Amino acid sequence: MKVASNKIADVRRYIKEGLQGVYPVEEVQSFAFMLFEQFCGMSMAQVLAQTRETINESELLLVYDAVKELQLQRPIQHILGHTRFYGLNLKVNQHVLIPRPETEELVEMVIKQNYYKPQLKILDIGTGSGCIAIALKKNMPDAHITAVDISGEALAVARQNADANDTEIHFVQADILNPSEWAPLTDFDLVVSNPPYVLETEKALMHANVLNFEPHAALFVPDRDALLFYKAIFGLAKSKNKRCSMYTEINESKGADLMQLAQLLDLKYAKVEKDMHGKERFFVAKI
Ligand code: GLN
Repeated sequence: MKVASNKIADVRRYIKEGLQGVYPVEEVQSFAFMLFEQFCGMSMAQVLAQTRETINESELLLVYDAVKELQLQRPIQHILGHTRFYGLNLKVNQHVLIPRPETEELVEMVIKQNYYKPQLKILDIGTGSGCIAIALKKNMPDAHITAVDISGEALAVARQNADANDTEIHFVQADILNPSEWAPLTDFDLVVSNPPYVLETEKALMHANVLNFEPHAALFVPDRDALLFYKAIFGLAKSKNKRCSMYTEINESKGADLMQLAQLLDLKYAKVEKDMHGKERFFVAKI
């Protein structure tokens, strides 16, 4: 398929026809506006109003390449190199999970229930892009935030995001599943985490744009030990603290199992909360 001309109307038609059948119509629409904004510096209003204006050859080439990559299911966030999360602009790449709207809800819950507590010490486990840590620091500026990840590549992205958003976060590289690496994680009042929780058997249900482009280490857990990250998080919290609250994102099918685990560990408070789709998505607890 060829682009008929450099006119905006023709470029839009090219994007639409190149991606129809691959994505829903509304998604293709919004991709088109994102590409015009990123590569041509044009707002949605300009794109809609100036259909007979032209874009230049190098801009056209960028759009052309992006359509090819979208056809191969590469996430739009990777093509643009960034995404929005809780009102912030964050860099993302193949080393970090693309932040999801559910995780914005997790951040919202932490802020709503804790904003008034002075000098809160927060630990973010499996920080990835740094989305949770940075959004919390932006909204609770006097909190002390430590963000941990096993991946040096992820931490490099998170550090850039913290700098770009003018937030001070203490980053630590550690494997939370390995208690011998817990030493630098000493002092915290609140733990927040969106750990890997998708079951290996759920892989078959996942889309190529996730499976082929996002880090599996940030997504999957073995079916036979689906709660391993939560066990490690509770273990860490129990070993270091007298009291602390925990806010975690969970697999929608694991709420009951986590409540059982909470009973077994004799947690002071435990509750499963639903997300905007009515799915059991968060586990909140106190030790
Ligand atoms: N919600 C993400 C997804 O379905 C998974 C996030 C996670 O494993 N922590 O792709």
